[in-house]
Amino acid sequence: AQEALRQSQKMEAVGQLTGGIAHDFNNMLTGIIGSLDLIQHYIRTGRHDNTQRFIEAAIISANRAAALTHRLLAFSRRQPLDLRRVNLNQLIESMHELLVRTLGAHIRIVIELQSKAWAVNSDENQLESALLNLVINARDAMPEGGTLHIATRNVELTCNRQVGELPPGNYVVLSISDTGCGMSSKVLASAFEPFFTTKPIGQGTGLGLSMIYGFMRQSGGHVQLESKSGVGTEISLYLPVHEGNISPEQSNEPIRTSIQV
Ligand code: ADP
Repeated sequence: AQEALRQSQKMEAVGQLTGGIAHDFNNMLTGIIGSLDLIQHYIRTGRHDNTQRFIEAAIISANRAAALTHRLLAFSRRQPLDLRRVNLNQLIESMHELLVRTLGAHIRIVIELQSKAWAVNSDENQLESALLNLVINARDAMPEGGTLHIATRNVELTCNRQVGELPPGNYVVLSISDTGCGMSSKVLASAFEPFFTTKPIGQGTGLGLSMIYGFMRQSGGHVQLESKSGVGTEISLYLPVHEGNISPEQSNEPIRTSIQV
């Protein structure tokens, strides 16, 4: 019953939004049609001097309608990505304090970064928001406390070693794992769906994982999800390396640094 209520509230919000837009759009069309009718009438009756101002009125209404659809498109279209060279380890370190604060004192955080990790080709802002989202999900999965593990590692995919639909090449894997409640097979199957959430109203939007999924696909990466009910969850983001940033001394570097809090 709660699920049905949530679904109906979602539909109501979508309905209100689209209803309002349809209403505005309809008003603009009415303006255009009315003006065109009058223009036709004045042309038929030979009163051409009256047509100019109705042509202007039609153009104004049409421009308003165009501006409205433009705004709608900008809203529904994913923000264009700003792909550039990103130092993932640096990004994680710069977010360290925020992540610790987000998790709270009852959750231990272990960060294990690959030293000389390759730079990735990604959108820094989107990556930050993805990481924060994943950390919030992990926190929510560990109300009684636990451990959050964040790690980076360089990975080379070959024809013999494939992940998802990723082409062979070099990637940095950012993995976030928790010792939380994990997901049932039912939740696991729907976790990437937009608006799918198991959280109470007001706490979850169900958009976090679906946005991360879209972001990964759009940026040439991949997201892998492993979860076991009662054990925990691990999410791995495969991020493509930035072209031309692998030098021989940087590859096959097994040494890692570790920060523990
Ligand atoms: P939201 O967090 O707003 O619910 P998400 O798309 O981020 O939306 O997640 C969808 C659902 O997947 C969550 O409601 C939760 O049931 C499940 N989930 C996500 N991350 C975890 C996790 N680390 N541990 C357990 N369940 C998770």
